[in-house]
Amino acid sequence: MSDLSALVRDLVVANRILARENVVDAYGHVSVRHPDNPHRFLLAASVAPEMVEEGHIIEFNLDCTPVRDDGRPLYHERFIHGGIYETRPDVQAVVHAHAEDVLPFSISVTPLRPVIHSGSFMGAHVPVWYMADRFGCSTNMLVTNMEHARDLAHCLGPNKVVLMRGHGFSAAAGSLIEVVRMAVYVPRNARVQMNALRLGGDIKPLHDGEIAARDGGYKPYSLETRRAWIYWARKAGCGHLVAEQPADHVHKPWGSE
Ligand SMILES: [Zn+2]
Repeated sequence: MSDLSALVRDLVVANRILARENVVDAYGHVSVRHPDNPHRFLLAASVAPEMVEEGHIIEFNLDCTPVRDDGRPLYHERFIHGGIYETRPDVQAVVHAHAEDVLPFSISVTPLRPVIHSGSFMGAHVPVWYMADRFGCSTNMLVTNMEHARDLAHCLGPNKVVLMRGHGFSAAAGSLIEVVRMAVYVPRNARVQMNALRLGGDIKPLHDGEIAARDGGYKPYSLETRRAWIYWARKAGCGHLVAEQPADHVHKPWGSE
């Protein structure tokens, strides 16, 4: 059995970091798959990420019903998480956010591409989900059931990030530390790309070989990578919640370095 309380603490830290780094505001959320039961995941009740405490974390089934329903209000878009976990067994953590910097790329023909080294982890291809294609032009644009979520997860495919037209993005990764890192850098990458486009002319995105080299050299639990997690946690005022070793470290094959 894993140390579930330590993982819950990490999830609180993830919420606070994403809020402090302006990836989420009153809306947006982050979840992690249950380490002992791949058919469940952990996500906060309907609370702004900056205010999430350990007591807010709820265990959900993959259909996004709470394992123990105590009547607390839930995020309307919790289905995003269930849909991705159901479709992608490799995914251990998911972020959904409305970060403004990515939105222009969700409504234009210009694709979001990795253009800075720290943006490499979103991969070469970032698909855009057009909800109206499947669900028509009269939805409220929110992912509020499993049918919506499965369609979004299908659009995500094997990629790490999917943009949602006029709405935001969802990111999926192999651990909390990776998905938080990616969610922090995706809007920064978008900002740089947008600024470069304003300069005019062609932009020069990362080469496939550069993306592969960065993936190959990435060790999510190395001291180097943990440095950012610890830094962001302190900045967010929750450095005291950061464990010596991340709670999901022992469950992942890539935790062996
Ligand atoms: Zn949303």
